[in-house]
Amino acid sequence: MKRFLLVEDEQILAKNIAFFLEREGYEVDIKHDGEAGWASYLLKAYDLILLDWTLPKKDGLELCREIRKKSNVPIIMITAKSEILDKIIGLELGADDYIVKPFDLRELLARIHALLRRNETTSSEEHVEQYIEYEGLRLDREKLLILFEGQSIHLTVNEYRLMELLMKKPDNVYSREFIYEQVWEGALGYNDRTVDVTISRLRKKLMELSDRKYFHAVRGMGYRFGGKS
Ligand code: CA
Repeated sequence: MKRFLLVEDEQILAKNIAFFLEREGYEVDIKHDGEAGWASYLLKAYDLILLDWTLPKKDGLELCREIRKKSNVPIIMITAKSEILDKIIGLELGADDYIVKPFDLRELLARIHALLRRNETTSSEEHVEQYIEYEGLRLDREKLLILFEGQSIHLTVNEYRLMELLMKKPDNVYSREFIYEQVWEGALGYNDRTVDVTISRLRKKLMELSDRKYFHAVRGMGYRFGGKS
């Protein structure tokens, strides 16, 4: 049975979400503040984490950032704030998706399913080809890692999928819309910044491994990976 962690301080909402998800066959641990959520995360293995944005003691953003440092578990942010800026910040922190309050529980379930499915396809295709390589840079499908000269960095599911798409065919130019369709499969409402923000996060991660520039913006077109700058 898949187990989720739900960190939400609105107790009635938390109960409703948990009740609904349990009826769908998931096990849900509810925590009402950020510190309790963090303690729970450290104790148990979760298949997915639902984080409210504003929480007592430790807010959802901080919690998201801390969890992301340690693992690639799918994270959905729950937020009452709908400003684009906030959404971008959520993505920069490494959340995989977000849902804006008030929301329909069936919509939440659809997003959970999409995320779990993406996570499974990403990690179950490793028998086909566990690594993708490009000039010493190696992408590990099983561990969601990027490796270079013995150093490695963790990627989130979305970062991995974006990286895989571009790295499979170096020099190919992909439009933002195409990248978005392939990587997010409609999970987040499209905005121009979704792809840009994820690529800039990947660039930062790659800079920790190598001085080389791997992602190139192609004016009026989109992005390509590798090749001459
Ligand atoms: Ca709250």
